[in-house]
This record gives sequence, structure tokens and C-alpha cells, in this order.
Amino acid sequence: MHFFASDKKDLSVGDVVAWVKSLDGQVTCQKDFAARAAKYGGFGRLDERVAAALRRRGVERLYSHQSEAAGWAMAGRDVVVATPTASGKTLCYNLPVLDSIVKDKNARALYLFPTKALAQDQLAELGDFSAELDGVATCRTYDGDTPAAQRPKAREANIVITNPDMLNAGILPHHARWADFFKNLKFVVVDELHTYRGVFGSHMANLFARLLRVCEFYGARPVFICCSATTANPAAHAKVLLGREPRLVAESGAPSPEKQFLIYDPKLLDKQTGLRRSALFETARIAAKALCGGVSTIVFTRSRINVELLLKALRKKLAEEGEDPNLVTGYRSGYLPKERRRIERDLRSGKLLGVVSTNALELGIDIGSLELAVLHGYPGSVASAWQQIGRAGRRGGLSAAVMVASAAPLDQFLAARPQWFLGASPEQARIDPANPYIRVNHVRCSAFELPFHEGEKFAGEDIGKILDYLAEHGVLHLTDEFGDKTYYWQEDSYPAASLSLRSATGDNYVIIDVSDGSRPRVIGSMDRHSAPTLIFQGAVYFHGGQSYTVEELDTEKLRCYVKISNSDYYTESESTARIEITEEFGQSGIFGWGDAVLASTPSMYKKIRLTTHENVGQGKIDLPEEEMETTACWFTMPPRLLDSPALGAAMNGLVNLIRNTAPLFLMCDKSDIQIHARLKDPKLRKPAIFVADNVPGGVGLAEGVFELKGKLLRACRDALDSCACDTGCPACTGAAPEGLNLKDEVRELIDEVLKKCM
Ligand SMILES: [Zn+2]
Repeated sequence: MHFFASDKKDLSVGDVVAWVKSLDGQVTCQKDFAARAAKYGGFGRLDERVAAALRRRGVERLYSHQSEAAGWAMAGRDVVVATPTASGKTLCYNLPVLDSIVKDKNARALYLFPTKALAQDQLAELGDFSAELDGVATCRTYDGDTPAAQRPKAREANIVITNPDMLNAGILPHHARWADFFKNLKFVVVDELHTYRGVFGSHMANLFARLLRVCEFYGARPVFICCSATTANPAAHAKVLLGREPRLVAESGAPSPEKQFLIYDPKLLDKQTGLRRSALFETARIAAKALCGGVSTIVFTRSRINVELLLKALRKKLAEEGEDPNLVTGYRSGYLPKERRRIERDLRSGKLLGVVSTNALELGIDIGSLELAVLHGYPGSVASAWQQIGRAGRRGGLSAAVMVASAAPLDQFLAARPQWFLGASPEQARIDPANPYIRVNHVRCSAFELPFHEGEKFAGEDIGKILDYLAEHGVLHLTDEFGDKTYYWQEDSYPAASLSLRSATGDNYVIIDVSDGSRPRVIGSMDRHSAPTLIFQGAVYFHGGQSYTVEELDTEKLRCYVKISNSDYYTESESTARIEITEEFGQSGIFGWGDAVLASTPSMYKKIRLTTHENVGQGKIDLPEEEMETTACWFTMPPRLLDSPALGAAMNGLVNLIRNTAPLFLMCDKSDIQIHARLKDPKLRKPAIFVADNVPGGVGLAEGVFELKGKLLRACRDALDSCACDTGCPACTGAAPEGLNLKDEVRELIDEVLKKCM
């Protein structure tokens, strides 16, 4: 038993909040959420055996949303439940599923969770519940970790818990072995629906289309029960994903504990440059105060590098205070699964007091209750912010969340207008199931699973052209017997094995530590697309608080060799980029959207000292130009401003504003889009600004900009006006050239563009 978890507890979370208010920055918002009482509903048509088991588990009544959702599902209606974190969503699907199994012991259900960790959590919970029902429902996980010998048993279970990757590569291609399962499939449970957006979501829509084809083949028509965090469009999102129209249950009946929420804006050091005390530093300061006082804390930050920087700072502080630095750990993608499972366990058991994470921990992974959440900057979406805030205080008692505003325009905009955030409806989750890279791959997989007949639709769409294309390339074989045209699979390999659902192209770099020459060690991974700007030769790579220097990047074998370096600096790369329109899909006034080619060349990197953030050197990056076909939205500059000498500067200022504001509307990360200004676009023959999906094939973000253009530009105007500077600063327009009132120029530009948006 260590020091913190038991007897010594200096501070309460209330003390930490009071201390934050005494700091020299400004608390621009404090909102107290009173504890809210529960609202209940009845057991409805639930089988008495299941109701009795519930009572034995201490559940006397259902919350209203549980009762409503289970009711719809039992009546055969698809349903999507969108209630807050920790509102007891699992019963919404476990009840109808168990109800169907006690009534028919052959009934089957498929549970899909985005990650293996969530699947394991669910297995434990279902196991306990099923035991109360005399084990009538058998339940198994089926994923990459399931040993071959246990797989046949798993296929016989009533409830099979798996993840999208396994459904894609392990279940659907081998559906014949699952014939009995599919014939009796009554329910498909899709948890964490909101995570299926962007590239992943576009894959999922196609994966569901494949699943439904297989179900139809076996004569099954399962009911879908989906759970989602709060987004602006859970029902519409589910409809695009599933191609079906679910009932929405959005009002939670669960009680919620008392919570305080604060926005803390670090002290403004220089009004003209917008320089503030570093939000990273302030986040570390608040988290260190809490951790040293024994308050369990989760820190959220947006980038992988910031996880490592914060972790380093917190460990140093704990050591200085005579505490164990290993009470806090990092958590992010790129850590190996085994390491992540250990961290989750240690957080639940209280062995760890704190964690610094990216949004990887936003998901419903059970890490026990934490008293304080510190958000380093606005996480980029309202939905995401509420998820992170919801991580504090899951099990009653006072809890608190502090969002530390960074100097970024959007953060400053929200800090100055907290009501905007508190009253905002969350964003829409966007996907584009018709992304050609993604769709063609899934049609191939689906053709392997079952032949396509001429005219057969996929996800509700005509795919005749794709089938013909695949037939021309020898992937499919077209037969024409008695006028019945059918496309059969004819390649040797099976296609799903090489299809990754997590990226449009599917490749990852493996990061290998070669410090000990005789024993190279795999320490992590990185998606191919991010790699050139993060792990080029000479780059500093952080992992688990340790710094490594990249020795070599093997762009053919997708390997990155690193060595332990103990650098006191990190690296930041710069690329040159160009964009070209290849096809226009839509046009409205000065706005358009369509296909584009985006090319970028990483050119140089800066070395930045960890402690002071000063530039201490630079180097060249020697990597070839990478081209990507994607979608973009563009707008040309209004005619009235074409002769303005400050047009170029104003365009760059607006680019800066859009870069920081657009993620708010698109529910995406800053890195999911690229924004460029061109003084003369060869196709448009005018100066133009481009917003492009930073994903091969695009996932609907550019189209979103095209739809939301007026809203987006008005928010940019608001962000500009709310900035404290006089003539433009890095927090809004970017640094203003000498002698130019950039703020006025950008304001005029936005107003002119807005006139063309009506
Ligand atoms: Zn400014």
C-alpha cells in the first residue's frame, strides 16, 4: 500500500478548486452542476426471470432511458441511446438481449466495441449477470487474443463480443463457420457509436453493409441497439452508418453527482503579441498541486508529444516533493496494448493516482473514479470536452473539471464566451461511406464473402461501376448464365486480411528501439500518414517519458529505428504543400468543393528546448514529396479586394482563423484538415483559400465546410473580435507584418466573403 491511496490525503478536490481561483490567471467561468435526482421507468415486457436477476443484483428499478430503450428493442425497433457517460447504458442492450435468450436458448447477439479493452470489460459484467440467470446465456469474446482452440466454442456462444477489426477479418470472411450464429442472430449491439466517425466511421458504414448482406443470406434481420455519447446528430449518424432509421433515446434518467466546472485563462503577459503564460505549464502546475495533495487526477491533452512533456513535468514535481514519480503515467495511442491494459488496471485499483492522456481515454474504458479532470486546452469538440469532463467523479462525491485555455484563438474565444460552450449543441459526427478508397475495398471483401448479382445494391447504392472495374482487373469473374449476371471472387488471397479499418490506406510504421544492438525491441507504432512529419531521421520521439532519437526511417519496410537519447529538446517539422483541384462537385457563388490533389514535402525541422521552448537549432528533412488524392472546399477572394496590397496577408490571417475554428464545426482534430491560401490558383484564376480533408479520399469534412461556410466564417469573425490584441497577433491572425493593421484587413475580408455567402 503506498502513501497516497490510503492515509495521507492533504487536499480535497474543493481545496484544489479554491487554489486554482487564487492563481494569477483568470477564472472566466465557474459552473456548478448540482446533483440531479434519478428518473425511473418500469420493467415493461421484460421476462420475469431477467427482472428477478436484476433485483438480486440490487437493481430494483430501471432508469427511464433504460426502460425506454429496452422497450423499443424488445418491440423489434432499432434504437440509439445517447445519454451521458456513466448513465448505465449497458442495461439498455443487455436487458433485451438476455430477455431474448431466456425465451429462446438459440438466440444470438453480436456485441461490437471499438477496442479490445472495452470488450473485456463487457465480458466481465455480462458473466456476472448471466450467473444470476443460472448461466442460461453463454458469452465469449472473439478477438485477436482468442486462442485457436477456443474459437469453435466462441462461435457457439449466445453472445459474441468482438471489435470491428475482427468482424472485418475474422468473422465475415468465414461466415460459413458461423452459419448457426447468423441464422439465429437477433441483436447487434454497437457501443461507442460516436467513435465511428471520420475514416473509421466511413469504414464502419461499409462493414455494416457487409454484415447485413451476410445476415440477409442466412435469413436473419437483427435489431440494432446503439449507444453513443452526446453528439448533435446521433440518430442521423446512426442512419448513415447502418442505412436504417433507429429510434432515439436521448433523455437520461440517471442521477448525476455534484460537479464544478471551471475555465482557467492563464495570465496575459503581453497584450500586443497575445502572449500568455503557457497553458502547458499551468496545466502541469494544477495537476501537480492535486497529485501532490493526493487528489486522483486525469490530465487530457491533445497531442502525443504533450502527453510526454506533461508526464515528464509531473514526475519531476512529484520527485521534488519526495513522492513516488511513478504514481502518474502516460496513456496514448502508440503505447502497446499490454502496457495500456496494465495502466487501466492500476488506475482502477488505485495503484496509480494520475494519468496524462490524449483522447484515447475518452472512451468508456473503466479506470475507476477520478476526482479531478484537467483539460490542457479545448479538446477540439464540444462532445469531446463533455466526455473528458465526465471522466471526473463517476462515483459520487464532489468532483471538478478545469479547462486551461491555451493561447489558441478558439480557446480564447471560448474562455471569453463560456456561455457559448455551456449552451452549445455538440457537433455533428461526419462520415463519408462513399469514399472511393474505402468503398472499393469493402466491395472486394463483400464479393469474397458472397457473390454479387447484377443490379444488387451495397449500402443502398448502385455499385455496378465498381463491380465492372474489379472484373476488368481480374479480381472478380463475371458469369452470364441464362441472363443472370453474377460477379464471383476469383483471386487466391482473401482481401479482408490486409484491410485496416483505422486508416484510409491502412499502413503503420513500427517503431523499434535499437539502443541495445543485439536486442531490438518494438516499442510502438505510428500511422503512415503522420510519420513523415513526426519520425523523420533526426527527430526526437518520446515514449513513456523517455526520449529517443530517430536513427533511420525505412520508408519501404515501414520501420523506424530509434535509440535512447535523453535529449533536452523536441523537434517540430515544417512542410511545404501545394493543392490542385481535379474535379468540381458543387458550386455556390465564390464557393466550391470537389476532388483535389494535396502534395506535401517535409522540408526542415526545428529543435525546441523542453524547458524554455526556445529554438536551439535546426536540420533538413530528406524525404520525397507525398501526394494524396482527397476532397477540398475552396473559395475565391471577393472582386472588391483583388487589388488590395494587403490581400495576401489578410488571406494568411483568415487561414489561421479557419485552422483554429473549423474543427469546432466538423468534430475533427486540427490535423484532420489542411488549409492553404494560393495567391493565384491556375484553375480558378484568382486568389483562393482551400480547406482539404487530410485523409486519402476524404471523409466528408470539406463538404461539411461547404455546407457550414456562413456559420464558420461568422465564428472566425467572432474569434477575431474577441481577441485582446489591437492589430492582429499569433492568437488570432498570426503575427502581423510591420506597419499593417492585419486585424482590420482580415475583418474586411471576412465581411466581404460573408456577403457572398448569403
Ligand atoms: Zn489577436
